Amino acid sequence: MAKASVPLTVPAVKVSPRGATRLKDGHVWVYRSDIVSADGVLPGSLVNVTDPRGQFLGSALYSGSSQIAIRLISRESVTDFPALLRQRVADAIAYRELIVCDTNAYRVIFSEADFLPGLIVDRYNDILSLQILTQAMDAETVRHTLISELTAKLHPLSVIERVDPRVRQLEELPQRSSALIRGDKSSTTFTMNGVQFNFDALAGQKTGAFLDQRENYAAAAQYAHGEALDVFCYQGGFALHMAPRCSHVAGVDRSRPALEIADQNAALNRREIEWIEANAFDLLRDYSNSSRRSDTIVLDPPAFAKNKRDIDTAMRGYKELNLRAFKMLQPGGILVTCSCSYHASQANFLEMLASAAHDAHRTARLLEVRGQSKDHPVLLNIPETSYLKCAIANVS
Ligand code: SAH
Repeated sequence: MAKASVPLTVPAVKVSPRGATRLKDGHVWVYRSDIVSADGVLPGSLVNVTDPRGQFLGSALYSGSSQIAIRLISRESVTDFPALLRQRVADAIAYRELIVCDTNAYRVIFSEADFLPGLIVDRYNDILSLQILTQAMDAETVRHTLISELTAKLHPLSVIERVDPRVRQLEELPQRSSALIRGDKSSTTFTMNGVQFNFDALAGQKTGAFLDQRENYAAAAQYAHGEALDVFCYQGGFALHMAPRCSHVAGVDRSRPALEIADQNAALNRREIEWIEANAFDLLRDYSNSSRRSDTIVLDPPAFAKNKRDIDTAMRGYKELNLRAFKMLQPGGILVTCSCSYHASQANFLEMLASAAHDAHRTARLLEVRGQSKDHPVLLNIPETSYLKCAIANVS
């Protein structure tokens, strides 16, 4: 087999045999411990990656500080980096045109899953919300190319940048604040599955809303009935979708600002929903002990396992919530239960659920095991791109 030639203008990073195998197996990350040499490579550079014998493996973005030192951006040598970025943006947009419907809010670019590692872009109707997670994506020229291409293709009224200060600190990037970077409109409304939502680009969690649950909202609404409880409701995504099917819906969250927006969302859709500001663990314990019953319960807690070490504690948290929910559900009731921790695998999650059903002396039939919406693509060879689990069960 002929060896690919290595372009000389781009600096080279040599990786260990283990790093090389990882890339050859289809992953795109190489950890710092598998870097053999990166002499004189500037943080955030485009680099050529080679194995220990100098064989070219691909072009990558280099981080001088992250444990993930290399994120492959192409298996070929890149001669025109801005052209590659523009092509990647165009491809991501074209992909969404195929798989996204019934919404004007969706993830336009999902980092590695769109071959643009370190970049997340969400569209909320006429506003684009962008997050930069790596040194390479933060470079002025890269930002300019990406934003120009996104605005030329999607014509947003505004572009805002959401900053996670912890990410910038880890990447040793100078701090900056979340801010409008194009246009002056920072709030809008968007629609998904026929439900309307208020959106304030400079407030809220994540890039604003939980777009990864969009398809699960519609699925949950299909089965929802009777007295429904949306636990960890944030701005009311599940509750608003379930309301037309249910006799009463209550949403529970400990964040008052989230519930205030949830209430505005209910008004926007002319729906009656009760919002309860409470700690979900306390509320479910009180409800289940006082024999309160529900027909439909949604559990969508924050990620309990932020890393591998947290997994046992996280599983105990999930089990406690699901056990309480199983105890509260009427026969024929519906449980919609989620986990957005990447570190809790689908197998771990279903095992926890089985054990909770068993301890609650309930029989559960799995109706659906779902993941994140298709605009958050999962790459088979990059397990880290798959993080959301959503199981729907009929409980008797
Ligand atoms: N279901 C929501 C997203 C939930 S995000 C949607 O579809 O939009 C997780 C939510 O859990 C956040 O709103 C956070 O405020 C809330 N939360 C975290 N810990 C909590 C606790 N112990 N009790 C109640 N709410 C909590």
